[in-house]
Amino acid sequence: MVDLSTPLAKVVAPGSAGPLAKNRDVHTVGDFLEFLPRRYVQPGELTDLGELAEGDEVVVVARVRQVTTRPLPSRPRQRMLTAVITDGRTDVEVTFFNARGHEHRLVQGVHGLFAGTVKAFRGSWQLTHPDYQLFAEEESQEAVSRYTGRLVPIYLPAGRSMPPWKVRTVGEVVLDSLESLPDHLPAEVRERRGLPGLREMYEHLHRPENLQQVEHARHRLRYDEAFTVQAVLAQRRLANEDLRTTPRLARPGGLLEAFDARLPFELTDGQRAVSETIAADLAQSHPMHRLLQGEVGSGKTVVALRAMLSVIDSGGQAALLAPTEVLAAQHHRSMTAMLGDLAEGGLLGGSELGTRVTLLTGSQSTAARRKALLEAASGEAGIVVGTHALIQEHVSFFDLGLVVVDEQHRFGVEQRDALRSKGTQPPHVLVMTATPIPRTVAMTVFGDMETSTLTELPRGRSPIASHVVPGTNPRWVQRTWQRVAEEARKGHQAYVVCPRIGDAAEAGATTVDDDGEALDLSDLGEGAGARELHSVHTVAAELEDEPALEGLAVGVLHGRLAPEDKDAVMRDFAAGKIDVLVSTTVIEVGVDVPNATVMVVMDAERFGVSQLHQLRGRVGRGSAPGLCLLMTESESEVALERLTAVAETTDGFSLARLDLTQRREGDVLGARQSGSRGGLRHLSLLRDEDLILQAREDALALVTDDPQLERHPLLRQRIAAALDEEQAAYLERG
Ligand code: ADP
Ligand code: MG
Repeated sequence: MVDLSTPLAKVVAPGSAGPLAKNRDVHTVGDFLEFLPRRYVQPGELTDLGELAEGDEVVVVARVRQVTTRPLPSRPRQRMLTAVITDGRTDVEVTFFNARGHEHRLVQGVHGLFAGTVKAFRGSWQLTHPDYQLFAEEESQEAVSRYTGRLVPIYLPAGRSMPPWKVRTVGEVVLDSLESLPDHLPAEVRERRGLPGLREMYEHLHRPENLQQVEHARHRLRYDEAFTVQAVLAQRRLANEDLRTTPRLARPGGLLEAFDARLPFELTDGQRAVSETIAADLAQSHPMHRLLQGEVGSGKTVVALRAMLSVIDSGGQAALLAPTEVLAAQHHRSMTAMLGDLAEGGLLGGSELGTRVTLLTGSQSTAARRKALLEAASGEAGIVVGTHALIQEHVSFFDLGLVVVDEQHRFGVEQRDALRSKGTQPPHVLVMTATPIPRTVAMTVFGDMETSTLTELPRGRSPIASHVVPGTNPRWVQRTWQRVAEEARKGHQAYVVCPRIGDAAEAGATTVDDDGEALDLSDLGEGAGARELHSVHTVAAELEDEPALEGLAVGVLHGRLAPEDKDAVMRDFAAGKIDVLVSTTVIEVGVDVPNATVMVVMDAERFGVSQLHQLRGRVGRGSAPGLCLLMTESESEVALERLTAVAETTDGFSLARLDLTQRREGDVLGARQSGSRGGLRHLSLLRDEDLILQAREDALALVTDDPQLERHPLLRQRIAAALDEEQAAYLERG
């Protein structure tokens, strides 16, 4: 019996199976069925030769009226064939540069189906090397109605010997050889969602009668993809519930209480509610696995810190994983400051309840690093803040109870898992995202976690005003620097963000972010390199000479500074010793200097929507109103529209959605992300929200009922294969 794993060579001739294997990586019946037509043409609509236009892709039913062959001038031994085909009213010229193989078939009077791209040539229509399929005279009428009644699937060719029509023939043979196909999707799910069965789906994709059938089949393809992802996520969630760990509860009269008593502000209602949810999670004997997303500046850090303190209260430790050294250093600084004497555990004058916050990064001196490692291992440090260095093997903890991952979008599932394995028992995990993410992304990328959201900003925040500034207008540019100066003279500070560093180490038109990673700008709307982009070095030099900024201190920050220099600059900026900080997007995530009130983004069109939102979240963090000036020299309408949208709304969720519409799905999921999200081929996180919700509901019900999928072996196989592929892709990326 033929099934999906049957080698294609067993079903079709070697002359067909060979090229498909070699050129299209199609080896089995299943591979072929997944090798989908690129599109479908409707013969009925296209038979009208009277309405051709240059470049039309046509499929016509026509009769060969006349055939001639003649030697090709350049290659006298080769003959060229020219035929005139007609639908009775309009003639089209068909040419083959090599008559061989065609001249005995394309003879006067035969009737058939021709497919190709029409070109106007010397006043008539021409089809060069069309695909064709001739009808035997006796079946002609029947064949015509058969083909005119149906869509014609158009495949990619599989090499010179396998033009699209031959691939189509393979499709016919493959479908005819299949009797039935066992379906991995349970019948009750198919019924509930009105989905076609597997066999029917393939029939409709490869041999549809109409576009509704194609759409119906595609719907199932998308559903299958969503369902597989959601089933994996549901399994992970259930497996997590089976894990055992120590419940962590704050102690009456403990560190958390002492911290709350010292807190200089009131928690927002949202912060309070999320904190309660987290406390309830931590009190469970299975590990928390929660995503905390929130608007930029909504105060996620305090929420995380409170969770850490309750873990410390219960005798455990907490680790905070940050994506960059700048951010790790800043978290270390700000947590130490917020804790005050509570962070001086074991020191003279420190609170007796106190603990220690330790920083561990890759660039520390050996001595500092050794000390940090020791404090983590001995349990002296209640909180260990660090970068990827924390994940390394030789880092160990005394009793790791909670892992907080900040700004998750830069970390993959494997990294999260590596850190979790640091505990003697699985620690609780709290992941915080830098920007709000659309619901479908949350469900797909973070679908194995519970989620909490902070939507409100702390009271007393003034909203950030944003404006688009045409950088080609000298008066506006001048006004911009005056605004920066005005803020600085009021005692505030400014950021100026540039897309490049501009030193010798930088090549061409690339952006370099904190990790020294070059971002490809080629698809940001217009050709990169057409215009010189502003760099940190040139802008800083210009601002030093700018009369409006006379007497103000200008500093420079970027990813290629030595770590201790980076740290010194950030410290000086935080201390108010630098008035204007010119930097790359190093400051994008999480940097918190409440006294900064204005940000100028140079070449703003070079940045993504969410990135701009994230960037401007660096200003207006204190009580003074924030101002963000998006400077651009671009005249691209798309770019200006996008910048205007960012300037007009401060709602991160709607901007995140806009971002999603403007990027390819793969980018949304992030090349560096891995986990149950790779390889979405059919599903769109933007378009298919309802479908994802349905698949999630169905998958959860199924997996809850049968966690190991023992009663659904086909589905289990399918999931295993998907995970394998993903694992392989991850390993390839390194
Ligand atoms: P994000 O959610 O973007 O990470 P942060 O945690 O960095 O935001 O908080 C932004 C700023 O708001 C910090 O300076 C923090 O101290 C302050 N903050 C947090 N919660 C409150 C609150 N309830 N009231 C006033 N200020 C707060
Ligand atoms: Mg933050």
